[in-house]
Amino acid sequence: MIVYDLKCVNDHAFEGWFEDGAVYDQQEADGLIECPVCGTTSVFKMPSAFAIKSSNPVKQLSANLQNKYADIEKIGKRVAEFVEKNFDNVGSDFSKEALKIHYGVSEPRSIRGSSTPEEEKTLKDEGIEFVKIPVLTSESEKEV
Ligand SMILES: [Zn+2]
Repeated sequence: MIVYDLKCVNDHAFEGWFEDGAVYDQQEADGLIECPVCGTTSVFKMPSAFAIKSSNPVKQLSANLQNKYADIEKIGKRVAEFVEKNFDNVGSDFSKEALKIHYGVSEPRSIRGSSTPEEEKTLKDEGIEFVKIPVLTSESEKEV
């Protein structure tokens, strides 16, 4: 795995994980890399921090990756807390509610919930933007 610091044309910085550099190039060429903030596919790669400052590449890289993992865990927790506080939980009605809001039937608001792959396809077909985030539940923690 390789992690790139990416930026979109609207100046949103985010990280992208790819199998290797060639996979990134391919996905970038196909317009598959989306900014998680605004959804644009006009993204570009920023110079990688660890590539610049590492004097001992292998050691430095693994230390940096460990830091990245720690950061991601922290960020993931913060995102989950934010979503929990600010998004209306509609559970498995997520796609139904998203469609209602899209067509002005429901009040525009931020919602969260779960959806099936078929429902996600419908939302995409309707041009509704949504973001999927991995959420650690107590159940999945037990399985680990
Ligand atoms: Zn953006």
